[in-house]
Amino acid sequence: MGITEQYQKIRNEIPEYVTIVLAAKTRTPEEVKEVINAGATDVGENYLQEAEKMVAMLGESAKKVRWHMIGDLQKNKMKRALKVFDLVQTLSSFNQAEALNYRASADGKIMPVFVEINTGQEVSKKGVDPDFEKVEDLVISMTRLEHMSVEGLMTMGPMTSDPEDSRPYFRKAKKFFDNIKELDLPGVNLKTLSMGMSESYQVAIEEGSNMIRLGRVVFGDRKY
Ligand SMILES: *Cc1c(COP(=O)(O)O)cnc(C)c1O
Repeated sequence: MGITEQYQKIRNEIPEYVTIVLAAKTRTPEEVKEVINAGATDVGENYLQEAEKMVAMLGESAKKVRWHMIGDLQKNKMKRALKVFDLVQTLSSFNQAEALNYRASADGKIMPVFVEINTGQEVSKKGVDPDFEKVEDLVISMTRLEHMSVEGLMTMGPMTSDPEDSRPYFRKAKKFFDNIKELDLPGVNLKTLSMGMSESYQVAIEEGSNMIRLGRVVFGDRKY
């Protein structure tokens, strides 16, 4: 199956309330353009520079979708990031949030952001430790930043061969999501839980995800 068929098949199989973010790393502009023409609404990039290149090469097509930062965002690149991204899914510290907020205020923008949780507590991954107080403290401190709105949580979870192994991590993220929501913090409008990838998206949706991030299952295996 090609990209169009694969995207539409998954789109039709999952509930309507679930947003699909296409993970564009290693893909060509032609491949990304195809999925946009197939109806994709959201595209994710792991590196600022690759997002800039992709958006420039796609021209008008790029304007049809929202661009998500799903990789680590360096503090000194916030100004450029605000130009290309509609949403940052990977905030994990107050310093980083403050740097983004500072730039957003200069642009007169309010940037939607997600807080990333390192549910597997892996040293190789970014994100806040899966400790409720830490997540809560960060989100509360971010309510002071007037040029961003915390709209979701994101998690990767450890790489596993069996998607069932991801379930406890997704469940944990959902619990954080519900708990933060319950705090009803001013300026926090938590609505999105971004979790689930090619192998694990079905389990993630069962556990409460309403945004999945797909690469291989739509585009095919990555060739580096
Ligand atoms: C690559 C990537 C994905 C998608 O991964 P696949 O296994 O190709 O579906 C999702 N989220 C992030 C943060 C990624 O870097």
